[in-house]
Amino acid sequence: MWLKKAVSINASRFFYLCLSGYTVAIVSQVNVIAMNNFQLEALLNAELKPEQVKDYSPNGLQVQGRDNVQTIVTGVTACQDLIDKAIEYQADAILVHHGYFWRGEPQSIRGMKYQRIKMLIENGINLYGYHLPLDIHPTLGNNAQLAKRLGIEIIGGLEPNNPVSIPVYGKLSTPMTLSQFEQQVATILSRPPLVIDGGQTTRIETVGLCTGGAQDLIDLAAAQGMDAYLSGEISERTTFSAREQGVHYFAAGHHATERYGVKALGEWLADHHGLTTHFVDIDNPRIKKAILHKKLFRIKKAAHQGGFVSSIVKVSRLIALIHRREFTLGIA
Ligand SMILES: [Zn+2]
Repeated sequence: MWLKKAVSINASRFFYLCLSGYTVAIVSQVNVIAMNNFQLEALLNAELKPEQVKDYSPNGLQVQGRDNVQTIVTGVTACQDLIDKAIEYQADAILVHHGYFWRGEPQSIRGMKYQRIKMLIENGINLYGYHLPLDIHPTLGNNAQLAKRLGIEIIGGLEPNNPVSIPVYGKLSTPMTLSQFEQQVATILSRPPLVIDGGQTTRIETVGLCTGGAQDLIDLAAAQGMDAYLSGEISERTTFSAREQGVHYFAAGHHATERYGVKALGEWLADHHGLTTHFVDIDNPRIKKAILHKKLFRIKKAAHQGGFVSSIVKVSRLIALIHRREFTLGIA
């Protein structure tokens, strides 16, 4: 028996269900919103204003795909795994923070770059990339989203006299010791940061912040009198900049600090413009290792407070797990 219902289709989805030998068609009307791919670029440009900043890669539609976009996969970097996920989701577009065609990279399309672009074009997937404009957006941006999670109230740009400063600074609502803030960062990002003690013993209140690979802006943070500075990566020179200028440094992971901007942008597209978006986090490095280290920390603490024998067993099991090859370790 077929139950059919006429649906004034703008867009509808049909679900078929087999019940005791009968096929029943359940018609569910879902208003599926689709948008022209260039209109979507115009919408994103109007929100993120890429013309405000000089960037290292083109912002906007980087690889053209099919004309209409309904489903979007968002992620930090347009790597092959993210493209594979987008194909799985039958997405019409990928929206990322790290797209392609970076300044200074080889211009030819070959090897890894060819494989990625070939997959996008063969599957009709549009690729949108927004780099610095997504770092600095006052609410959806990487800096703003991370600051909110870490309890830092942004006061302004760290670059003096620059209305579109890339790094920002703010205050912790409750000043913290170095180890308290370290724990806070580890918990929020699910991975322990690499911390360089700047030597000062007062509680951390003012924090400079710039997600990703902005470790060299530590000198600016020191010049502006920050108690601490947080970014994603660390270089050899960063350690000495922190120690010699008395500013605590937190290298919290390039990927880990830049997950939240593109996620928020996808949610904004879904909430305000009715598009279907899926945020896909491709670990870099694997979060599991950080979680294991956190567990290890807790068990060691418990061992100090009693339960010594069982804690020793747990610790040795965890150490074995941490050192297995599947758990990779990296900084950025
Ligand atoms: Zn980045």
